[in-house]
Amino acid sequence: MIKNKDMKIVSFPSRLLLPIKTFLESEIVKLKRTKKNINEADPFKDESRTTNNSLEEDVDEQVGHFDAEVKANFVSVQIVQFRKALTRMKLGKYGICENCGKMIDTDRLAVRPETTVCIDCEKERED
Ligand SMILES: [Zn+2]
Repeated sequence: MIKNKDMKIVSFPSRLLLPIKTFLESEIVKLKRTKKNINEADPFKDESRTTNNSLEEDVDEQVGHFDAEVKANFVSVQIVQFRKALTRMKLGKYGICENCGKMIDTDRLAVRPETTVCIDCEKERED
């Protein structure tokens, strides 16, 4: 890992934080709505579902249920990530990598404002 000694740890100016906070909060609302829609599309949640299905229908329902579960899990992980970013903000640690403590590149934050680790740490995690 490259250590940049010149890089100073500065907290984000609050005028920049507010729009990010608003964005993160609105994304959480959207994600929750998405999750609700996914759950409603789950064939297992369909109360009019018949129990004496043909095998083919059963397979369709299984696939649909699995698909809904995978999608719902993915959205749940995203919600957690967005909440985490908001928590970091509350702690005054937004934009600081939770792993190495370095400032996260602002270009990276612009693309993924919910991120809580720097690019180097993310690469390390993926390896
Ligand atoms: Zn890091």
